[in-house]
Amino acid sequence: MGFNQFVGPNESDILQMTSAGLYCPAGGFHIDPSKKVHLAVTTHAHSDHARRGMGGYICASSGEPLLRQRVGKQAEIQALEFGQGLRLGGVGITLHPAGHILGSAQVRLELKGRVTVVTGDYNATHAHAAAEPWEPLECDFLVTESTFGLPVYQWPDPALVMDDIHHWWRFNQSRGRTSILPCYPLGKTQRILSSLDPGQGPIGVAGPARAFLPHYRAAGVSLPEVHELDESGMAALKGRGLLLISFSGEEPPALRALRPLSYAAVSGWLQIRSARRGRDVDRGFVLSDHSDWNGILRCIRCSKARRVAVTHGQTEVLARYLRETMGIDSFPLGHYPDNASD
Ligand SMILES: [Zn+2]
Ligand SMILES: [Zn+2]
Repeated sequence: MGFNQFVGPNESDILQMTSAGLYCPAGGFHIDPSKKVHLAVTTHAHSDHARRGMGGYICASSGEPLLRQRVGKQAEIQALEFGQGLRLGGVGITLHPAGHILGSAQVRLELKGRVTVVTGDYNATHAHAAAEPWEPLECDFLVTESTFGLPVYQWPDPALVMDDIHHWWRFNQSRGRTSILPCYPLGKTQRILSSLDPGQGPIGVAGPARAFLPHYRAAGVSLPEVHELDESGMAALKGRGLLLISFSGEEPPALRALRPLSYAAVSGWLQIRSARRGRDVDRGFVLSDHSDWNGILRCIRCSKARRVAVTHGQTEVLARYLRETMGIDSFPLGHYPDNASD
């Protein structure tokens, strides 16, 4: 594979951008590669970061079962506790919580006294029970994601959002409607589930999200008991339940038996936009597993980094803001996976 761009202006830099994604030549590994490579340091188990077929993977311990679910049981995975050191070539590697989903990690690299941090997807805005809270890290060079890197993105208090979800659910119950909440299957579903009040009524989870629930429970995340869409689950949910479900396109036929339905969308902008397309959505709730604008700036300030590469989202706007407003040497960085999560 050809190296087509150095991440920074100095050849001594620890990271290079290759056709497979970020590569650390001194350590012989990629970070979240998009093609099959020898060794992948994997920040988390979302499909745009964790792909099948790598020679080996390194990930955080609490994210290992999720990664196996994604890339296959036979995968060669070395799991590290957060903060546990590993040396590859001359590079010291540690993983630190990113606050995005269970086991999501920032990658801290140290070579010859210089520290580089690659954030992966992270949530430095609001900590919650279904992910280890984001940890501030100081470094010389920061590679930050920027999914919501525009000033317009400012998340409301998640506790108030959960209140709104419960109010919507209660209103639907009063009308005999089943509440349907399409959610991203890994991360968003478990986060909402961990904040729902099972005393209000029956809760269901359907679709690929179900497979991840045991791993969250095993990691100590408290989740209520949930129904599936079998006969007894359907009977319990109809007219008063809240169903978290992941699907795209056509409404699953099973939902017909739960009518009348009320749909809502819960996400940053992507999911709201797509949920509005071709389907009536009664409510939209703003809740994201990524940092908002302030969270991104918080991470950058805490890092005290003199150079910041911006990737995975609104790269140009944020890089220019950092240069012009904060005086930071900053540049957009391409060839990083597109976002799957919201
Ligand atoms: Zn993600
Ligand atoms: Zn991502």
